[in-house]
Amino acid sequence: MLALMSDMLPLIIDPWALYRHGSTIVGKLPLAEMPYLLASQNRDSGEAAVSLSVVQRDDGEVVITGQASIDVVLDCQRCLEPMTLTLAVDLHLVLLKHEKRLETIEEDAVVCQDMLELAPLIEQEFILVLPIVAKHENCELAYQNIKLNKRENPFANLKDLLN
Ligand SMILES: [Zn+2]
Repeated sequence: MLALMSDMLPLIIDPWALYRHGSTIVGKLPLAEMPYLLASQNRDSGEAAVSLSVVQRDDGEVVITGQASIDVVLDCQRCLEPMTLTLAVDLHLVLLKHEKRLETIEEDAVVCQDMLELAPLIEQEFILVLPIVAKHENCELAYQNIKLNKRENPFANLKDLLN
């Protein structure tokens, strides 16, 4: 099996070519390409790590399979301080050439004649696992951590020294 290693993944892929070549693509997708996910959180940059291949399953269906993960920063709905959460998803989508077959498929599927936009596909999976209400497990602990970090700032006493 051939593995194509690159830092940034192409935004548009040919899943049928991946299937024919037995390739696995591994790389990153910028958060900026996932506008709905981006809008749900309080930062404007970041990237998802994605690894993906297209294989034939035992039942003959061709499936897009792989993993994707991303760190998102959400506002805690209890203390309003930011919280970082890692979203990790397993991808498993049946790849179909013709829309007609959607009627007979009872699992998640994607119809693609030739080229496929990668970011919306991955974004959709992340949105499915986004918490409806984000909360720290223990707000007070999270808040103490933030205060501790501030105290450790080596420049915190600089103002006193200058006086
Ligand atoms: Zn909190």
